[in-house]
Amino acid sequence: MPFERPDIIRPPSEWRSYFLPLTAGCSNNTCTFCNYYGSRLRLRKVEEVLAEINALALYKQEGLMVSGMPEMVYVIGRQWDGQRVFLQDGDALVYPFPKLKEVLERLNERFPRLRRVASYATAGDILRRSPAELRELRDLKLGLLYMGVESGDEAVLASIRKGASYREMVEAGRRVKEAGILLSATVILGLAGVAGSTEHALATARILTDIDPDYAGALTLIPVPDTPFFDAVKRGEFELVTPFRSLEELKLIIENTGFTDCFFSSVHASNYFTVRARLPREKERVVQTLADIIAREDPSLLRKEYSRGL
Ligand code: SF4
Repeated sequence: MPFERPDIIRPPSEWRSYFLPLTAGCSNNTCTFCNYYGSRLRLRKVEEVLAEINALALYKQEGLMVSGMPEMVYVIGRQWDGQRVFLQDGDALVYPFPKLKEVLERLNERFPRLRRVASYATAGDILRRSPAELRELRDLKLGLLYMGVESGDEAVLASIRKGASYREMVEAGRRVKEAGILLSATVILGLAGVAGSTEHALATARILTDIDPDYAGALTLIPVPDTPFFDAVKRGEFELVTPFRSLEELKLIIENTGFTDCFFSSVHASNYFTVRARLPREKERVVQTLADIIAREDPSLLRKEYSRGL
């Protein structure tokens, strides 16, 4: 079956990247809230990936277009500055190691201005790679991995069928950092609903502290149709937190983290309020801002429901 290019699902900070698919779907397709739930992982043939890199280089350097290449290559390529590449899809680090190296080598060879390659990765993908293998990838400019942590609460991790434990995620995160690759960890506000809200926030602060990532990002839960989570909400089995309660969680997380030096952001479009801060340096300022917003309970200060998205 021919490989079908996946939609672009990317972290907000990757807007300048070229989106190069190595896979479609996610190898761990069990997370009950995720739009990859139930997706079938497909690996793209490495020859096809290398041909796309060659075609992109020809286009950027000579302005020539290769017939048969997907239109998307040129749509993204036109604006691209040649410096950052994001490997799709849900966890491109699952791509077989020798082939991943081949792709990175070709990118380095064809794009001398290349600064950094990034991808999503599950804890399982990371732990399958030895520290030496991760260093090899870093030397080929794999410079940033995004790992979805979601929660530090083991009960929540089990209920969303995350497929990784607290300990595994801490170990995976540390392995990435020790290899000299930047790590961005993502957590989800509201994931434990009203009942588990406080414990979820406190445990999430704990796991983030233990991982101590370079970047941390918060999203706010949006039930995605055709997922078990969505169905549970519809059946009334899961009570979503209110927008202001999600800010309480955000405040609790920031207040209780003990980072060495982390850029924390809630810029993602799913959130009701954006904070961007270097922690711990700006902790007091952000916690105070959030406390003020929560105390005012003024919905006009929040992102409108219709403009939220994943
Ligand atoms: S590992 Fe990440 S991308 Fe894959 S299903 Fe879970 S949340 Fe979604």
